[in-house]
Amino acid sequence: MIYSVIVDVSASEVDKIFDYKGEGYSVGSRVLVDFHFRKVEGFIVGEKQTTDCPPSKLKSIICALDDFVAISPTALELCNYMRQEYHLKWVDVLRLFVPAEMRGNRVRVKSAKQAHIATQGSLENILQSLKPNATKQRDLVTFLYNNGATFCSKLNEMFGNGVVAQLEKKGIVATEEVVVRRTPYKNLQVLAGQQRTLVPAQQNAVNTVLQNPQGRFLLHGVTGSGKTEVYLTIMEQLVKQGKTCIMLVPEISLTPNMLRQLRERFGNTVALLHSGLSAGERYDEWLRLKNGEAQIAIGARSAVFAPLENVGAIIIDEEHDSSYISDNNPRYNTLDVANYRASIHGALLVLGSATPSLSSFYKAKKGDLQLISMPERINKRPLPNVEIVDMALESRSGNKGIFSQRLKEMLQQTLDKGNQAMLFLNRRGYSSFLQCTKCGYVAKCTDCDVSLTVHREDGMLKCHYCGKRFYMLDKCPECHQSSFKQGKIGTQQIAEILGNLYPGVKVLRMDADTTQNKESHGKILEAFRNNEAQILVGTQMIAKGHDFPKVTLVGVLDGDQSLYHSDYMSTERTFQLITQVAGRSGRDVETGSVVLQTYNPTHYCLQLAAKQDYLSFYKREINAREASSFPPFAEIVRVLYQGEDEDACIDELTLQFAKFSNLKGKNPQAFFYLDKMRCPLKRAEKKFRFQVLMKLDVNKKNIIADVYSICDGKTHNNVQVFVERNPQNLS
Ligand code: ADP
Ligand code: ZN
Repeated sequence: MIYSVIVDVSASEVDKIFDYKGEGYSVGSRVLVDFHFRKVEGFIVGEKQTTDCPPSKLKSIICALDDFVAISPTALELCNYMRQEYHLKWVDVLRLFVPAEMRGNRVRVKSAKQAHIATQGSLENILQSLKPNATKQRDLVTFLYNNGATFCSKLNEMFGNGVVAQLEKKGIVATEEVVVRRTPYKNLQVLAGQQRTLVPAQQNAVNTVLQNPQGRFLLHGVTGSGKTEVYLTIMEQLVKQGKTCIMLVPEISLTPNMLRQLRERFGNTVALLHSGLSAGERYDEWLRLKNGEAQIAIGARSAVFAPLENVGAIIIDEEHDSSYISDNNPRYNTLDVANYRASIHGALLVLGSATPSLSSFYKAKKGDLQLISMPERINKRPLPNVEIVDMALESRSGNKGIFSQRLKEMLQQTLDKGNQAMLFLNRRGYSSFLQCTKCGYVAKCTDCDVSLTVHREDGMLKCHYCGKRFYMLDKCPECHQSSFKQGKIGTQQIAEILGNLYPGVKVLRMDADTTQNKESHGKILEAFRNNEAQILVGTQMIAKGHDFPKVTLVGVLDGDQSLYHSDYMSTERTFQLITQVAGRSGRDVETGSVVLQTYNPTHYCLQLAAKQDYLSFYKREINAREASSFPPFAEIVRVLYQGEDEDACIDELTLQFAKFSNLKGKNPQAFFYLDKMRCPLKRAEKKFRFQVLMKLDVNKKNIIADVYSICDGKTHNNVQVFVERNPQNLS
C-alpha cells in the first residue's frame, strides 16, 4: 500500500505530500519516516495503490508512533475544510488536533507502583503466617485487605519504606506498574451535584434546542439569566443519549468555579483542555477524551479540536469574545470551525452571549441561526442601575483624580454595608508612559513603536507589546534632566490609591502581571469569593463570566478607553465590555449599581450600554455598518507585511499592491475599497509593518482565492506576508 504522508517539520515552507510504502497502517495515524536522511514524525493523510515516485526512491514507513489513530476520519474532514477555507498548510492544521507534547515523543504516560494481596484466604489466615511482633507488616496487610490495591508511595508513607518489599519476598503481597492519569485542579472541592429546577425561560431554551438536534442557535440571555444552567442541561440530556459534547469558553472564564459546576454535574466524564495545564495534564485529559473515558470536553478555543466522536452538541459561551478568533498562524475563526464540525457530526450548535457579536445577531435575523431570548435575570432580579458620571464636569469642579465624587460615595456605602466592589480599568501597570517635561522625550521600546509602561512594583519600564523590560530612568537620555511626567493611571496605581483612601480595606488586583503563574488566577478569584478582600481591581480579566454574589458595586473607571480606537469594531467592543462588567453587579439578592466614568456621557454606545439595551444598540450599529459597507456586509481583508528590512517590505508591498490593483480592475464590483499604507503600529518586535487593506463584497467568494495566490507569489524571503480576514485588531 502507498501512504500519503505530511511530515511534521516546522521550518518547512512546503505544503507537500510525500509517498511512502508500508502495510497495515491507518489513515490519520502518526508515523515515523525517513526524510532527507533524518527520522521525522509524520501524519498519514491518505492511502492509494500506486505512486509516481520511482520505486528506487520510494521509502518505507519505519513504524507507527501511537497505538491509536491520532486524527480520526471526522477530524481529517475538518482539517480539509480548514485548509481550504483559510488557505492553511497541512502541517499547521494537523498539529491543532494533537496535544503539542505528544509530538516529538516528549510526554510519557505516567505510571506508578501499586500493591495488592497476592494470596488467597481470609485475613486471619494470612496474618497467621506473619510473626506476632511484625506489627508494621501485619498493619499493612490488614490495610490492604480492607482497602484493596493501593499505591506503594502511600503505603511507604503510612507503614515505612521497605515493608512492601518484605511482604513481596514472602509472596503475600504483589506489586505492579499501573497507568496514572494526571488530573488538573485535583484538589478542587466538589459538592454533590445539586440539581436546580429550571425557570420557565431556561426550560424553554432547553426544549427549543433539544427539539432540533441539528439546529444552529443563538442564545441571547442577559447577564445573570442562567445560561450556564441551560448549557449543562443540554449536555446532560445528550450524554444520556450516548453522545459527547464540546463546550468552549473564553480562556479567562475557565475558572475553578466553572470547573466545579461541571464536575458537580458530570464528575469524571469532563475533561479540561487549556493552556494553563501542565504538559502531562493536557496530554492525559486529551487521552481520556480520545479513549472514551470522558465524554465532555471543556476548554478555550482549541477545545473545538477535542478528540471526540459522536458529538451531539458544540456550545460556545460568550460567543462574541475576540479570543475565538485566532490571529496568529494558523488563523481561523472558531465559530465557523465549530459550525462545520457540528455539521460533520450532525450535532447542534449553541452560541450564547448577553451581547452577541453583530455578525451572529445578524445571522439570527436572517434565519441562519435560531434566536432564543432570555431577557430577564433569574428570579426577576433587576439589572443593575447604571449611573453615567461626566468626568469633564468633575474636572471643572476641581476633582482631577481618577475617582469621581460619586464613585467614592458609592464605594464608601458598599464597604459600610459589608458588600464587595469591582473596579474595572483595562490598563495594567502603574502608568501608561514616562515623558520628560523639559524636552518631551517619551521612553519607547527599542524593538516596537510602543511607549513603555511604568511598573512600580519591580521598578521597571515594560513594553506591553513584546514584553521587553528596561530599567527605570532617573535622567532623560536626551536632555539629561530628571523631571518626568507620567501617563494614564494603570491598575497598579489604582490599588495604591485605594490603599491610601481606605486604609485597612483589603484590595485584590487581577491583571496579566498578577496572574503570571498557573494558579494565581484561580487563587485571586477564590480569595475574593471567600470575602478575603472587599475590592477587586482588574483589567478585562474581571469583566466576564464571574458570579460573585456579594458584589453590589461595579466602577468603570475609564469608559472611553476602547471607544476611540480607529477600527470599525471599537463601539461594538465598548458596548460588550461595559455591559459585561456591569453584569457582574447585583447578581444575588441586593440590586447592584454601576458607576460609569466617561468624558462622552452622551455617546449612544455608552448610553445604551448603561441601559443594557442590546437591541437598540444592534439596530443603530448594524445600520451604520450597512451604510459604510463594513462586516457583516463586506469582508475586510488585511494583508500584513512584516520584516526587519524596511526596503524589502516596501518592495514586496508595492509589487503585490500592483497585482491587487489589477485584480480590482478586472472585478470592480467585488472591491469596495483598496489601499496600502504603514500599519498604525509601525514597528513591532524589530519588524517594520505595512498593510494592504481591502473591503470585499461578501458575495464574491472567489476573489479571496486570488488574494491568497497573489500572497503566495511573494518574492522576498525576509518579508512575512499574512492574510487576515475580518481581523479583530487593525493596529
Ligand atoms: P449567565 O451565565 O446567564 O450570566 P449564570 O448562569 O451565571 O448566568 O446564572 C446566574 C445565577 O443564577 C447563578 O448564581 C446561578 O447559580 C443562578 N441560577 C441559574 N439557574 C437557576 C435556577 N434555575 N434557579 C435558581 N438559581 C439559578
Ligand atoms: Zn517591544
